[in-house]
Amino acid sequence: MLKITPYLGSLVVIVSLGGLWYPILGYFMFLVMGTLFITSLFRGRWFCGNLCPRGSYFDYGIIKISKKRKIPKILSSMWVRVPAFTLMMALMMYRISVTFAAQNTFELIGTILVSMCLMTTIIGTMLGGYFNTRSWCNACPMGTMQRVIGGNKHQLKMDHESCVDCKLCEKVCPMELEVRDIGNNPDCIKCGRCVDKCPKDSLSF
Ligand code: SF4
Ligand code: SF4
Repeated sequence: MLKITPYLGSLVVIVSLGGLWYPILGYFMFLVMGTLFITSLFRGRWFCGNLCPRGSYFDYGIIKISKKRKIPKILSSMWVRVPAFTLMMALMMYRISVTFAAQNTFELIGTILVSMCLMTTIIGTMLGGYFNTRSWCNACPMGTMQRVIGGNKHQLKMDHESCVDCKLCEKVCPMELEVRDIGNNPDCIKCGRCVDKCPKDSLSF
């Protein structure tokens, strides 16, 4: 985790709500998409655990109201994630394409991006409030894209010799992964919490 990670969540609120008055704020979404695309080439889902404003919003905001119920496995299933990714991208492309005939295309595209940010924030807040905080991240279209691009990059390493099976690592994993059997899990968001928690230094990147 980076020093700025806890503060990034405020950007979600600024874009989702401020964007209702200032649609230009929606263009921040393109910056996010571009950055996560580049980082995923080298570090898989590292962006999700370190730079994602929405991830920070869940970890440091929604955690205060979350019921922390177990995340439903169905959310991380490709049967949910692929349609969610396809639907979101198709909807965004379609809505943007119909703005080209208008005179205020720039502002309209900003409005579309803000509405998508707001919509996904509402869904993520409801999921994170009812289940565990990072529920949305199990199905997030941008997380799925990073997984596909660089899921095998920058993997967590496990020293089974020194592990004493205390499971402290699994208790702190926000993605509820089976850390001790992590292997090449492409949905690890490289937040490093398990590494920090392990009393035996059995985990490393
Ligand atoms: S396995 Fe470790 S680094 Fe990966 S998401 Fe879980 S806590 Fe974070
Ligand atoms: S915290 Fe460390 S010692 Fe405990 S189960 Fe996890 S890897 Fe093993």
